[in-house]
Amino acid sequence: MNKNNVMVFVQQDDGVVADVSIELLCKARELADSLHVSVEAAFLGDKLAAAAKALLAYKVDRVNLMQSEHLAHYTPLPYTQVMVDLIKEREPQIVLYGATTTGRDLGPRIASALKVGLTADCTDLQIGDHELGGTTYKNILYQIRPAFGGNIIATIVSPEKKPQMATVREGVMKLTAQEPGYKGEVIEYKPGIGVDLLVSQILESVREEKTVNLKGAQIIVAGGMGAGSKEGFDQIVKLAQALNAEVGASRAAVDAGWVNKAHQVGQTGTTVRPKLYIACGISGSIQHRAGMAESSRIIAINSDPQAPIFQIAHYGIIGDLKDVIPAFIKAYKNKA
Ligand SMILES: Cc1cc2nc3c(=O)[nH]c(=O)nc-3n(C[C@H](O)[C@H](O)[C@H](O)COP(=O)(O)OP(=O)(O)OC[C@H]3O[C@@H](n4cnc5c(N)ncnc54)[C@H](O)[C@@H]3O)c2cc1C
Repeated sequence: MNKNNVMVFVQQDDGVVADVSIELLCKARELADSLHVSVEAAFLGDKLAAAAKALLAYKVDRVNLMQSEHLAHYTPLPYTQVMVDLIKEREPQIVLYGATTTGRDLGPRIASALKVGLTADCTDLQIGDHELGGTTYKNILYQIRPAFGGNIIATIVSPEKKPQMATVREGVMKLTAQEPGYKGEVIEYKPGIGVDLLVSQILESVREEKTVNLKGAQIIVAGGMGAGSKEGFDQIVKLAQALNAEVGASRAAVDAGWVNKAHQVGQTGTTVRPKLYIACGISGSIQHRAGMAESSRIIAINSDPQAPIFQIAHYGIIGDLKDVIPAFIKAYKNKA
């Protein structure tokens, strides 16, 4: 198979592929189609044969499978070495990583080893041309992300060196339909891992059960500073319970200590796309909107008719939460 493809580092935990890696495979397909190249996955771990085959349905042309007991769990040195070796062998033009704890650790190590660029925390990726010093670089990767506290959206390019690399936030890339039976191949490599790389060992891993599932929620009721107090925020939680929804929050509400950080939506929280997002007493700062503007339907409740959240809301209720939320719950219960 030709080189110069779009590669995704597919992160797994006990053989379960991270959601962000699937999102990236879907985006990689789109980028590869516009570049007329193939999609490759870099899949590292142990006992992954079945999971590797399953990746093909995401229209992956080639899964580079590297299995070893030393790769069963992420440790920086072996993973970096194996990825660097693979990139040198396959010479992709683009490599994408999820902006997870693993991706944020691994990406910079690889960038440093290969002396190439890396843009962290991208929220969009596009292909386009770039002029630099009289040279036109054709079809390079636009790595797009908020900058300066989210006040501008920056497009970053690294045209001179390949691969162009980026980490991408979870939840921002759309999933596309799988194609069972897609004709791709799984190529297994024997990873070369010297003993000098085995300097750390995972003795035990303790998994904290997730109690908040913002990304999977169909309905999110989110509260902000307009709640006024912890007690006020509890009313928003009650509305969420009545609608069988997940509770979201602005960063300001999290910082005020009214709700746990796991509920934060936005640039430094979770990116969500529910069917319905109800923003209660949230002004709609650019950083908050970055995490929820793609929701299918947005209802905003705010006492200030000029609040920016109304610019993206499909339905707006101008009023005090203290009046609107109890009326909302009552009306819903009467209808249900
Ligand atoms: C680098 C960086 C990253 C950030 N990341 C995030 C992020 O991930 N997520 C995030 O949310 N923010 C983030 N922020 C913070 C962001 O800039 C805003 O400060 C924050 O979103 C504001 O939260 P808020 O809308 O709850 O509060 P405010 O902006 O204070 O808005 C409160 C709103 O409530 C309304 N209101 C007041 N009283 C009532 C009432 N009784 N009834 C109805 N409405 C009422 C007001 O009219 C107002 O519109 C970030 C900031 C920076 C610099």
